[in-house]
Parts: sequence; C-alpha cells; structure tokens
Amino acid sequence: MTKRFAIIGAGMSGILAAIKLREAGHENVRIFEKADEIGGTWRDNVYPGLNCDVPAHCYTYEFAPNPEWSALNVSGPEIQEYFKKVVADYNIRPLISFNAEVKRMVWSDGHWDMELSNGESHHADIVIGATGVLHHPRWPDIAGLDSFAGTAMHTARWDNSVDLSGKRIGIIGNGSTGVQMATALGKAGHEIKHFQRSPQWIMPIPAQEYSEAEKAAFRADRAAIDAIRYDEEYWFRVRRFTTAIANPDSLEMAEIEDFCRSNLEQSVVDPILRAKLTPDYRAACKRLIYSPDYYQAAQLPNVETIVGEIERIVPEGIVMEDGTLHEVDILAIATGYHSDRFLRPIEIKGQNGADLEAAWAERCVAYYAIMIPDFPNLFMLNGPTSPVGNFSLIDIAEKQWDYIEQLLAPLLTENAKAVTVTDEALATYEKKRVTAAKNSIFGSGCTSWYLDSTGVPITWPWDYQAFEDAMAKPELEAFEFS
Ligand code: NAP
Repeated sequence: MTKRFAIIGAGMSGILAAIKLREAGHENVRIFEKADEIGGTWRDNVYPGLNCDVPAHCYTYEFAPNPEWSALNVSGPEIQEYFKKVVADYNIRPLISFNAEVKRMVWSDGHWDMELSNGESHHADIVIGATGVLHHPRWPDIAGLDSFAGTAMHTARWDNSVDLSGKRIGIIGNGSTGVQMATALGKAGHEIKHFQRSPQWIMPIPAQEYSEAEKAAFRADRAAIDAIRYDEEYWFRVRRFTTAIANPDSLEMAEIEDFCRSNLEQSVVDPILRAKLTPDYRAACKRLIYSPDYYQAAQLPNVETIVGEIERIVPEGIVMEDGTLHEVDILAIATGYHSDRFLRPIEIKGQNGADLEAAWAERCVAYYAIMIPDFPNLFMLNGPTSPVGNFSLIDIAEKQWDYIEQLLAPLLTENAKAVTVTDEALATYEKKRVTAAKNSIFGSGCTSWYLDSTGVPITWPWDYQAFEDAMAKPELEAFEFS
C-alpha cells in the first residue's frame, strides 16, 4: 500500500523532508503549515539586522547549492528567498496546506488521525514533525510592560511598517537577535539603548561580500561552492568548537575563550565600556554570538549599553534596579523563545494511552532527538536535544533525515507497519546525555535557552563526529517494528 506521509511545518526541515520523500518516489505527501507562507523562522523573523551567522554556502541544502549568495553571511530575507526558490524548483508548494495548523493527533488502528485548525481531518501512516526549535516568542516577565506608552514589539513579530526615524529605541536582550539588531540600527544612526541583563562573549567573524566574478565562478562550477562549503579551515573550527563544548577544560575551549577575550580587549577602547561588556561566565556557555561589527556599533555615540536588571517598565521607558529611568519611544523585545515547544501545543496521543504532554512533563526528550517511545511512526527533524554546536541546522536536519530514512525502510517493504523506539533505549540514552550535558560548557553556570526547566542543557552534548557517527546508522535494537 502507498504510504501516506504528513509533514508538520513548511520551514527548512519540512521542505527538506518533502523533497527527500518525493525523490524517493512517494506520491502521498502532505505538508501542514499553520501560516500562509513557507519559511518558518525566516518567514517570521524580519527584524532589522536579521542575518545568519552560519556561512551561507553551509546554510544551504546539500542538493540545492546557491551560487547567488551575496555574501559569506547573508540576511534573513535573502535566505527566505532561497527557500521560496527551492520550493518552486522542486514543485513543493502544491503539497502544502496553508493556514492548516495541526491541533490534535491520535494514533489509532496503525495510523495517525490528525485534526486541523481549518476543521479538516487527515490520516497519515507516517508523520514528520518539523515544527522548529525556536518558534514561540518569549515575552519577559517584567512588571509594567503593558503600561508602556510607545510601541513594543517582539523581534520575532517585528512590524517593519513602524517608522523608527527620530525615535529612541530600547532593545531588551543581547542574544544573537538583540546584538544583530543593536548593531544594524546603531550603525544606521538610530538612538539605541541596549539593555543587557548579562553581557555576551562575541566571536569575531569576517564580513565578506561576494563579487560578481566570484558568483560567476560559483555558477560555472559547483566545485567553487564546495570549496567554501567543505572548507577545511571552517570544518576544523566546527569540530574544534564541538570538542570544546563537550570538554570545557580542553585546549580547544581555552582557544575559543582566548579568541573572545582578545576580541573584547582589542575592540573596545573605553575601559568602562569594556568592563560593562565583560561577561562573568565562560565563553560558549550561552549560545556564542558571532559578529564582525557588534563592538564597533556598541562604541558609537548613538548607542548606549545598559547592563543590569530592569526593575520595571513605565509609560516613558525603562527603570533599572538603581532607579535610573531610560526614556524610549520603541521597545524591541529580543528576549528569545520558549525552547520547549517542539510540536507543542499539538495534543498528541500515542499508543498504550501515551500523551505527549505527560511524556514531556519534566523535559522534552527524544531518542537521538528523533523518536519518542509509544509515538509510532512519528519522527522529528531538529527535535529536542538536537542543536549540535552553533552550526548549520540544515546540515543537522540532512543527517537526521539519513537516519530516519533507514528506519523507514522496513515500513516501506511491508515487513512492518510501525516503528517505535523502546522505553529502555530512550532511558539509557537520556541518562548518558544528561550526564554529558551537565558536564558540557552549556552547564557551566549561566542562563540560556539551552537549559530546560531543571537546568539541564537540552543540546547534543557530544562532539560533531559523535553526531555524524550516530546518524550514520541507527542501532536497530533500540526500535520495535510491528
Ligand atoms: P536568546 O539567545 O534566548 O536571548 C534572550 C535575551 O533576552 C538574553 O540576553 C536574556 O538575558 C534576555 N532576557 C530574557 N529575559 C529577560 C528579562 N526579563 N530582562 C532582561 N533581559 C532578559 O534569544 P535570541 O537572541 O532571540 O536568540 C535565540 C537563538 O536564536 C540564538 O541563540 C540562535 O540559536 C538563534 N538565532 C540565530 C541567529 C543566527 O544568526 N544564526 C540569529 C538570531 C537568532 P540573559 O542572557 O541574562 O538571560
């Protein structure tokens, strides 16, 4: 029987899954997308300065190289255009139901019954959860936020029709988003007050635009693209970084810390500002920030860095713990996302009375980030504990897809109808993972979206090689085929 595939989400991972399934000859593939356009994070995020700190030729599907990338690191809108082009080139759009949020899924009689927000229902034999890690904006719990008299916008819901000219802009938060925004708006000459609860370590990266001649070379020969994508120096840094994450006392981590510290010391001239911008935790404990020009922007006369706890928000602006009032007209809320909302809030009922909310009551877990016991034929891309270092999530998803494909094989030959991971396999995996995660740099003592509600990092805690090895071949004894 032809298998019916349902993919939840038409972002980077969902598009990947659809293309791979179609290439494997599957005709019955549907994508359910709650919004009215593809792109996920690149559709939702349009804030000024949005950029991807992963080199563009690495943040590209392996099968769809893009000779037109304008720079080493490109803007969010350019990436969104790339995804739209891929969707058009692979004719994926007809597979997508837009404005169709999956609300409920029940495993029944060997398949998934899915209920959609548009009132329709759908049956699928196999479901791919591709809902993204950072999707649900997190507003800060700061007293008085509602009383602000100006315009307050979360960066993930930014409205570019709001006129910023001549306005005093307060940015709360200095993760990758807040730093990119402060840099872009500061360099554009806006009056910026950047509120930082804890300063960040910044890793310098080059700013490099590709010339027309370089793009012509990319068009002429894929080898020119691959020379960047598989650049030895870049992959040396990727591997060094993941080794360092897993071994905070390693030489590799000492090198990363040195890079960040000397970047700060050599870039920031004023000792008072330098002291303000010096973190009191280890580099890479929070998701490391890569920027060619943040420190340059932070030293502009129109950019003020305010470090400390916000006491409350009042109609005129922000009051710090020391009582200082900073008046602003626009508030950019760059406070990140709820990082425990994989698949949520979909109500998901598996076999043996399993309920996803109960399964994830303590923390979101999944065997190698891909499967959860008692939820047969439900696979995730970029699922919980998936982030591997700070690198291309496309690369991660592609490797996860190779793993999923191997689990799908028995289902496609009719030898089995369903696959699920065993409780024992997940328990053993999680025990190992939690121990390693606590000992990784992410558990070395700082706040970040990498931590679950009990303070355990939700990341891949081993190095890149371990990830590649794990994804190359599933340990089939961890799974039950029925
Ligand atoms: P984030 O890294 O979670 O940062 C949230 C920021 O908000 C932190 O600075 C945090 O301060 C601050 N904050 C939270 N609650 C606060 C409060 N009540 N008062 C004051 N400050 C508060 O969020 P993000 O910057 O949106 O980035 C999330 C992730 O998205 C990144 O780590 C990255 O993975 C991804 N991203 C990637 C790129 C890219 O170029 N690849 C670009 C943007 C985003 P504390 O640090 O003190 O908690």
